[in-house]
Amino acid sequence: MATDCIFCKIIAREVPANIVWETEQVLVFPDMNPQAPTHLLIIPKKHIPSLLHITPDDDRMIAGIYAVVKDVATKFNLDEGFRIVTNNGALAGQTVGHLHFHLLGGRKLVWPPG
Ligand code: 5GP
Ligand code: ZN
Repeated sequence: MATDCIFCKIIAREVPANIVWETEQVLVFPDMNPQAPTHLLIIPKKHIPSLLHITPDDDRMIAGIYAVVKDVATKFNLDEGFRIVTNNGALAGQTVGHLHFHLLGGRKLVWPPG
């Protein structure tokens, strides 16, 4: 846990969030500033600052993220279409330094994403 990390605080239940899915290694809750009718954040419980910080030790967790994507997309009836986004680094718009995967759906999503 990183003491100054908002997502670690959510994992520790020190900051409230409406947790909609949880596994041993992964937590899912709605983004507080939703950009689509369904906008969830899928995060590892382990504090990893960005995709540049994953190691082979994280292989099982990364696989687990995508298993959760499938389960959550099904639960939220997104089988017609959804998008997974990870903003990595300041230039890409990453604002929280704890690896996370945005799951966006419930509307038509344009491409390219800008
Ligand atoms: P990023 O900008 O790093 O790709 O995504 C971070 C996301 O976290 C943003 O979309 C922002 O709205 C969301 N966020 C930041 N702080 C909180 C929080 O305390 N609770 C929730 N639910 N979402 C948060
Ligand atoms: Zn963290």
